[in-house]
Amino acid sequence: MSLLPPVAIRGSSLSGLAAALSLSSLPSPPPVTLYSSPPSPPPDPHIGVGVWSTALSLLPPPLRADLSGRGAFLSAAGYRAVDGRWLHRTSLPPGRLLFLPQGELLERFEAALPPSVSRRPAAEYEGGEHGVTVGAEGACSPTRALLHPSCPGPQPGGYHVFRGNSPHPAGEAFQTWGRGGRKRFAVVPMSAEASTWFATVDSGLLPPSPSFDRRSFLLSHFSSFHPPVPSLISSSPPPLLSPSLSHPPSPPPSHPSLCLVGDAHRLLDPVLAMGFTLAIEDAYSLATHYPDLPAYHRARAGRRRNAAAASALVGALAQPSVAGVGEARDALLGVVPGVVKGAVFDWVMEASLRG
Ligand SMILES: Cc1cc2nc3c(=O)[nH]c(=O)nc-3n(C[C@H](O)[C@H](O)[C@H](O)COP(=O)(O)OP(=O)(O)OC[C@H]3O[C@@H](n4cnc5c(N)ncnc54)[C@H](O)[C@@H]3O)c2cc1C
Repeated sequence: MSLLPPVAIRGSSLSGLAAALSLSSLPSPPPVTLYSSPPSPPPDPHIGVGVWSTALSLLPPPLRADLSGRGAFLSAAGYRAVDGRWLHRTSLPPGRLLFLPQGELLERFEAALPPSVSRRPAAEYEGGEHGVTVGAEGACSPTRALLHPSCPGPQPGGYHVFRGNSPHPAGEAFQTWGRGGRKRFAVVPMSAEASTWFATVDSGLLPPSPSFDRRSFLLSHFSSFHPPVPSLISSSPPPLLSPSLSHPPSPPPSHPSLCLVGDAHRLLDPVLAMGFTLAIEDAYSLATHYPDLPAYHRARAGRRRNAAAASALVGALAQPSVAGVGEARDALLGVVPGVVKGAVFDWVMEASLRG
């Protein structure tokens, strides 16, 4: 029998599943109960999502191999101006960033859980029943609200994100940085016949009625973007739409029996494709420190800060709200030598992945 306190995990999306997996893989694991409530709206299983090597390297080798076989590692990416000019192109080290369908990521984590993990509906959770509660409930986590009673909940980031899948190949992965209106378009090829993409737009530009035609709206805002941006949008089924939200910075919690993982821990603007990566890293750091929860939160503070800083910097550069900033950025990137740009871009990427 384990001497570690029993743990309740509230939320069974990726961060809850990863926490259940990491804790139940300890040499003498604590009893783990996973409390679930169905997400609303349900996630689109076909949307492609990125997972960085800092998270993949923590996973048991069979799960890592399973995930790697269901997606593709990105080997190169580029940043483009609205007219299609390449502002910078970069190659990624092998094995650095895996893209795979979101549904397969969640399904493979589910399948990797040992039968010792108990499953219960969220409504049955009672705080006093377990030694430790892990909040994995996403942006509006009730466990986060308990730990940070004076901090406001998630704050709007000022833009909305549309996500879609096109049956057309994108060729290579690229991001096109807009020149105002917080517009940005990014696409990653998922196979020889399909691509997954996202587009950002200033929240103030959205029509007041929530039932607007998303594809036509996007086409009207991205018609001046270079090919194949308009055709990727028009060939996709109606895209998903979500507001960008972020948690204001807060000190690491020091509670002895409550802790946070994933988006409940700290929500970032979704511009670096880091959410799932941070969720998996949180889960394995929690298992390393369990049951010393304050030590876990202290260990993750630097990593979370770096990711937030990189996300803010990239967001400001890539999707400015004011038109002149985008023009000045493109002109500057046009004259800076490639070797200098390469060093700066690589430094930002590495800094965003450091703890
Ligand atoms: C537009 C967009 C694009 C993104 N792209 C990427 C990407 O490419 N790569 C990447 O890594 N990340 C990406 N992310 C971020 C990623 O989706 C999140 O970081 C990730 O889903 C966080 O997982 P989570 O388990 O912490 O939270 P969630 O996915 O929000 O899951 C929380 C779960 O808890 C449940 N729940 C809520 N309340 C309770 C309760 N009281 N009790 C029990 N359960 C509860 C919910 O129903 C849900 O199932 C993107 C996010 C957005 C918005």
